[in-house]
Amino acid sequence: MDHLPVFLNLKGKTALVVGATPAAWRRAAWLARADAAVTLVTNQSVAVETGSETPVTLVERSFAETDLDGVRIVCIATGDRDEDARIAAQADARGLLVNVVDRGDLGSFIVPATIDRGSVTVAIGTGGALPGLASELRHLIEDAMPDHVDRIAQFATEFRQAAEAFLPEVDMRRRLWETVLSGPIATALRAGQLPEARRKMFELLARPERLKSDGEILLVGAGPGDPELLTLRALWALRRADIILYDELVTPAILDRARRDAERIPVGRRQGDSRGWTQEETNALMLRLARAGRRVVRLKAGDPFIFGRGGEEVEYLQRHGITATVVPGLTAALGCAAGAGIPLTHRDHASAVLFAAGHGATADGTTRWAAHLKAGGTLAVYMGLTSAKAIADALAAGGIARDLPVAIIENGSRPEERISTGVLGDLGWLADQHQGGGPTLLVLGDVVRLSPHWHAEQPLWTAAW
Ligand code: SAH
Repeated sequence: MDHLPVFLNLKGKTALVVGATPAAWRRAAWLARADAAVTLVTNQSVAVETGSETPVTLVERSFAETDLDGVRIVCIATGDRDEDARIAAQADARGLLVNVVDRGDLGSFIVPATIDRGSVTVAIGTGGALPGLASELRHLIEDAMPDHVDRIAQFATEFRQAAEAFLPEVDMRRRLWETVLSGPIATALRAGQLPEARRKMFELLARPERLKSDGEILLVGAGPGDPELLTLRALWALRRADIILYDELVTPAILDRARRDAERIPVGRRQGDSRGWTQEETNALMLRLARAGRRVVRLKAGDPFIFGRGGEEVEYLQRHGITATVVPGLTAALGCAAGAGIPLTHRDHASAVLFAAGHGATADGTTRWAAHLKAGGTLAVYMGLTSAKAIADALAAGGIARDLPVAIIENGSRPEERISTGVLGDLGWLADQHQGGGPTLLVLGDVVRLSPHWHAEQPLWTAAW
């Protein structure tokens, strides 16, 4: 974060704007909207239309250092860079909040793009990088924000104390506000029917047992790591979770999308690591939390039902009388293949794809994989990095050509994504280049040739064998 976003209370505080440029007048109007006592020092006569009750005091002369006396916040836009810098330095020396228009580097703060809906304000900062980006984002957010959001905010303020008195438990209050936001009260507010909304609210507060809901468990697929690859349903689940039990492979970027005050518990365990939670412990915890009425999200990398032990968890919960809801996710093979530009099936190259687990692969298993590859299928191997060499040897022994194209995708869909391609004969050596890194997927088959990462002259294995 380049800048700290804060909302300043400037009511009645003295704000100074220096300059005779249109930007200076805009800053004066902006500060006046927050009810600051604004003085505009300008050496040109201007009429400032503030659009607010608060008038701007005009001082028509050049800036003098004493103008900074008693001031909290200063905006500078004289149109002369040297002059701007000089005034900024004086203000800064006094420890004031300083903004220099178009010179974020000179001041202590920059002005965000804002959406102003009464008491609801959204401020967007892009570190001053690209002004167009902030306004683009503003349009997107404006489109998504209901017009009556200010009415909802005022309504919530009106009932805040009553809600705390009637519903001492935080979870209950959260449920209350969720009901307000998504139910008939929001509909009444949207229609401007405030008395109706109030009546319904009193009803809810008087009978809070209506808000009590049973606990629930959602098994949610988080996808391969890029939060943009979450499904809308997964996002919705994360936004209303009371508690999130997440796996080792779930990225911080995804947890960032969850409700701020949701409790987060890492229950992961790395392959081959005996520390961390056992499956039994995780199961028992899920059950206990659901029975305590909590909304539990069991968050798993990729898809919960693909090498995620989701099936076992659903069975366990069923045995204990709880039906879990499964929210599918994009499994690693799909995210990795997209990132590496490998079509897993292709009319001319592969008519089937097999998702297999490399960890603990048996001779029997590899014989089946060989048959699948011989039939022209694509093989995606999860958890196959450490046994990559053994897999390659078993497949070669099973009659697969050593020049079969292979790809290794590490950290698929994440910023640290690394992709190597080669041939089966090199798989062990290639895998060594990825040991100790992030999660890694192997893709074997003719389709790897279609990847932009594929280089035709790479059968190094001829040298090794
Ligand atoms: N349920 C998950 C798989 C869990 S098993 C899914 O559907 O994707 C864990 C294995 O998944 C890892 O060892 C690795 O092989 C693979 N994997 C998960 N995320 C990955 C990623 N971002 N990039 C590459 N491989 C990944």
